[in-house]
Amino acid sequence: MGETQAGRIRVVVVGAGFAGLEAVKELEDAPVEVTLVDRRNHHLFQPLLYQVATAGLNPSDIAQPIRHVVGGQRNCRVLMADVADVDLDARRVQTDLGPIDYDYLMVATGATHDYFGNQEWARHAPGLKTVEDALDIRRRLLTAFERAETTPRPEERHQHMTFVVVGAGPTGVELAGAIKEIATQSLRGDFRVIDTSAAKVLLLEAGPRVLPAFPEKLSASAERQLTNLGVEVRTSCMVVDVRADGVSVKATGTEDAPTDIGSSTVVWAAGVAASPLGAALSGSRDKAGRVPVTVGLTLAGHTEVFVIGDLAAISDAKGVQVPGVAPAAQQAGRHAARSILADLEGRDRAAFVYRDKGSMATIGRSAAVVHFGPFDFSGYPAWVAWWLVHIWSLIGFRSRAAVMAGWAWQYLTRRRVARLITAPTPLPQPDQPDQSDPDQSDPDHHPRLDRPETADENHRDRSPSS
Ligand SMILES: Cc1cc2nc3c(=O)[nH]c(=O)nc-3n(C[C@H](O)[C@H](O)[C@H](O)COP(=O)(O)OP(=O)(O)OC[C@H]3O[C@@H](n4cnc5c(N)ncnc54)[C@H](O)[C@@H]3O)c2cc1C
Repeated sequence: MGETQAGRIRVVVVGAGFAGLEAVKELEDAPVEVTLVDRRNHHLFQPLLYQVATAGLNPSDIAQPIRHVVGGQRNCRVLMADVADVDLDARRVQTDLGPIDYDYLMVATGATHDYFGNQEWARHAPGLKTVEDALDIRRRLLTAFERAETTPRPEERHQHMTFVVVGAGPTGVELAGAIKEIATQSLRGDFRVIDTSAAKVLLLEAGPRVLPAFPEKLSASAERQLTNLGVEVRTSCMVVDVRADGVSVKATGTEDAPTDIGSSTVVWAAGVAASPLGAALSGSRDKAGRVPVTVGLTLAGHTEVFVIGDLAAISDAKGVQVPGVAPAAQQAGRHAARSILADLEGRDRAAFVYRDKGSMATIGRSAAVVHFGPFDFSGYPAWVAWWLVHIWSLIGFRSRAAVMAGWAWQYLTRRRVARLITAPTPLPQPDQPDQSDPDQSDPDHHPRLDRPETADENHRDRSPSS
């Protein structure tokens, strides 16, 4: 498909995430023809996606057009297309625009959400993976406060003012902290009926501690910092149902009857599954759907096919299980590209060795945890380290400058720059009549916009002069 230069080795890279993009850059001076295929037109810096979901940054601060990123690379062409299948024998990739033949293939299509067999939960509890997900979550969060302000019914107000985050890995911790900060700082004083600082933010984790991949000391520190911020952390708490009006939970590993938590905003940060394209590459995949690869990062029996990034189950040359994080994906991308260069130059390929760059998670203003080799630290120094690393890692000067300016403003004013509800449609409420349609809604339940029905814990008592 498309024009190719005769005689050149054809390298097809599927996915312009951390792994794919790094591989392409490494091939910049190689005598090959690279085709970079992605279903989207932008590369996304996922580690800061929660900032878009919580109105701290705009999408364009953390996403860059792929054509712009590789625009100066003469041996690379970009195709916006969805890859549906790979024919390993014919060495051909099937896209929605047509087939592409390759001499070398790199598959780096990342991961998606996993609802552990309960895909119907996705409708009520969006996960965070794409710009669209982040904007959907931002809309739900901000709409919940708007609904809480106008409903006359206390129990409904309570439901709108309760936010549930499922899963206490780094994304869940970051989201829960940021939601609490929106409620207590960014929105303070903006509403007339509700006291936004009374919003309840619940972080539910099925395992025994938050940030399970971090050392125990840092998990304990993160839980303390979350609690200080006002987040209610519930560990060993398993979600067994998700509905439009909340979740049901029970203690992990027990037969206890589930209890209900009313909430109109549930965010899913609990499970990750490898991209479905893995099924086209290998019949044997691990529990998370990841494709096993050799220490050279290739498919068994196919030295011309590299699987890299979150899609691959990698045990490196030292037996280290490589985690699904951005630096690991970048290292794998570089390694795959260097293997191709080694072939072209008649050298032996090296085995992949992962270099652990540490891990970090932010919790809120001046609150974070960092694990870096023998060094574990938390609080303000960790927050500064987190901030510097994330600014440094962003692609492009414009992004760095925009994010720095946005965060500085946010830090000084405690305000968030992107508090926009951009979707025109109401939130899905399948269990209730559509409130936006006057013919279908219950006539006795029209909200009174002039006064709340009764006070509740979310209702701020305001004097007439206020
Ligand atoms: C919310 C969130 C926060 C995170 N925070 C951190 C963090 O703080 N630190 C950290 O190190 N890691 C973090 N990660 C993990 C990190 O982002 C991933 O490990 C990394 O993105 C993996 O890179 P990848 O190249 O394998 O996949 P991705 O970066 O996900 O890229 C995959 C690309 O493939 C494209 N694609 C997918 N399917 C197809 C298809 N069929 N056809 C065409 N194109 C396709 C996608 O559009 C995408 O551009 C976070 C992840 C998320 C979701």
